[in-house]
Amino acid sequence: MIALHQRTMQQTSAAPTCRLRHAARTASLFVAFLLVSIVAHAEPTPRVERIGDYVLAAHPRLIATDEAVSRVKTLAKDDESLASLIDWVIREAELLLDEPVVVPEMKGRRFLSTSKRVLERVTTLGVAYRFTGDRRYADRVTEELLNACGFESWNPSHMLDVAEMATAVGLGYDWVRDTMDEATRRRVVETLLRLGISHLSDEEAGWRRAEHNWNSVCHGGQVVAALAIADHDPRWAETALRHVKEFSPNTLEQYEPDGVYPEGPGYWRYGTAYQVILFDTLDTALGTDLGLLQRYPGFAKSFDFMRFAVAPDGLTFNFSDIGARPGLLPPLVWLARRSADSAAMLDLGRYAQHVIEDETDRERRYYPLSLFWWPGHKNPGGVKSADQPTSWLGRGPVDVAVFRGPWADPDAMYLAIKAGRGNLSHAHLDNGTFVFVADGVRWAIDLPNDSYNRIEQLGLNLWDRSQDGDRWSLRRNNNAWHNTLTLNEQRHRVDGQAEVVSFSPEVPGQTPGVAVVDLSATLGLPAGQATRKFTFDSSARRVVIEDHLSGLQPGQYLDWAMLTRADIERADTEAALVLRDGDRSMTIRCELPLDTQLITESASPPPGAPDSDNPGVMRVRVRQEADRRGEVRIRVTLQLPPKSAAHNGR
Ligand SMILES: [Zn+2]
Repeated sequence: MIALHQRTMQQTSAAPTCRLRHAARTASLFVAFLLVSIVAHAEPTPRVERIGDYVLAAHPRLIATDEAVSRVKTLAKDDESLASLIDWVIREAELLLDEPVVVPEMKGRRFLSTSKRVLERVTTLGVAYRFTGDRRYADRVTEELLNACGFESWNPSHMLDVAEMATAVGLGYDWVRDTMDEATRRRVVETLLRLGISHLSDEEAGWRRAEHNWNSVCHGGQVVAALAIADHDPRWAETALRHVKEFSPNTLEQYEPDGVYPEGPGYWRYGTAYQVILFDTLDTALGTDLGLLQRYPGFAKSFDFMRFAVAPDGLTFNFSDIGARPGLLPPLVWLARRSADSAAMLDLGRYAQHVIEDETDRERRYYPLSLFWWPGHKNPGGVKSADQPTSWLGRGPVDVAVFRGPWADPDAMYLAIKAGRGNLSHAHLDNGTFVFVADGVRWAIDLPNDSYNRIEQLGLNLWDRSQDGDRWSLRRNNNAWHNTLTLNEQRHRVDGQAEVVSFSPEVPGQTPGVAVVDLSATLGLPAGQATRKFTFDSSARRVVIEDHLSGLQPGQYLDWAMLTRADIERADTEAALVLRDGDRSMTIRCELPLDTQLITESASPPPGAPDSDNPGVMRVRVRQEADRRGEVRIRVTLQLPPKSAAHNGR
């Protein structure tokens, strides 16, 4: 098994540039040198009291400290949701006692699912041990760590895999170290250095300066691992702090000014979870955040971004890669702890229930950590609906505008719009796209993501975001299959930045909300020549989308598109369709010249296309040519039936 996995890794590790390979080799030599010195001086463990300017706390020093455990226990006396989560962690740990250790498995070029499984086991069993002191959980953590220490590699050709494993082994070591004999400690420390920290400390690693989620995940793993073993050798922790000071700003800047995460809500949860693990580790081990949270206030504001990115149907506005998964997320708990206002808006009872009922493995590794992030503010148990704003504009590399109905109403209308640009990490050619949810139905959808590994196995370069890149040959990445505009059947310009150029919030019953996106650069036109205006009127239960292009040549044409899973019926005229989902309905009406009509077509790809199927998804489309003045105007209304009639679809 191990031999096979090793061979697969060698076949797939040829990607980095010569410079990176050279740097990695240099780093390995450096590490080999340091390892010799560590093994030679493993006993007795030197007493290290400071890392740079900061006092190093005693073990357990990472997140689940004695102080943190007793704080949570105290809070739980008065908080049923928190108490139920502690019980849940212990129940889960009890189930894991009988499970065999994780079997390593490469999936294509990734080892990531193995790393994630080990982390889930460590956080569950380790936190259960920290709360109960039950030695069985600690021994089971040690068993899992020694198993991971027996893997030949943690797959440094895909560094996220190393970072997540290093997080698992670092946390596990810190938490159950008191139960380990000296030989076990040495084995874990030696392996953490050799398979984890050495790679994560590579000065020239490609992710080091990245602006995307890799920066947070890999620096998070580096900090956890280096601080876990800081008493063996403080140099790794000093290096990690220097790296965080110098390079974390690259990714923290992406949250500025308003907290929008350019890679979308799906990657927000990944990058931000690790950024939170990084901050909490620094805080508990050294009592500092290196001044980063004050310097980058957008990070805390991403609480609002994610709150508005979750629609009344419980799913996210899933722009970029990653599907529209449920939106009650561990990092929100940490952000809520830092702000009483945020805490008042997070329904922790619902969060606890969601955690306990969640059958997927996507977030489970963070759930036990979120106990330590629990806000101490008295939580009112949800949102005071009437007091909360219902319109929001977030600016940044990607602008996002959201209009929604009352927070407490699961049937509320919800419209989320994005601008930005296509060549950002994980982005799609989706400028101007929107998701529309109302009466509990997601009427306008963004296609869920495909398996990266499956596309890569087809030989496509999924990560080539250049104008001619393979990435755009996939429907779910291309503008033609988003709820936006396509000019002359061309790809959007990948470097064409779109912005929300005008925004006014809705005052329900008085003034509709308005957002205007300038799509000129995206469509390859001079500024101001392509605008998309959304008008959101929750009282009239209506959204109007008005597109206006000018300066076109005769014969040029524009496609308007919207994807839906609803059943579609032709209405009374060629220019209207009725969408139905069970007993709910919505009408799409388009003001069209007589010779055009709304077209409906399946989103299923043709045979031989690289895309996965999109079962049940239809595209509604209308095409219009430039008129004599070189203009195109398309006006589409999404109209819901009156509220009283909404449930019978009439
Ligand atoms: Zn998309």
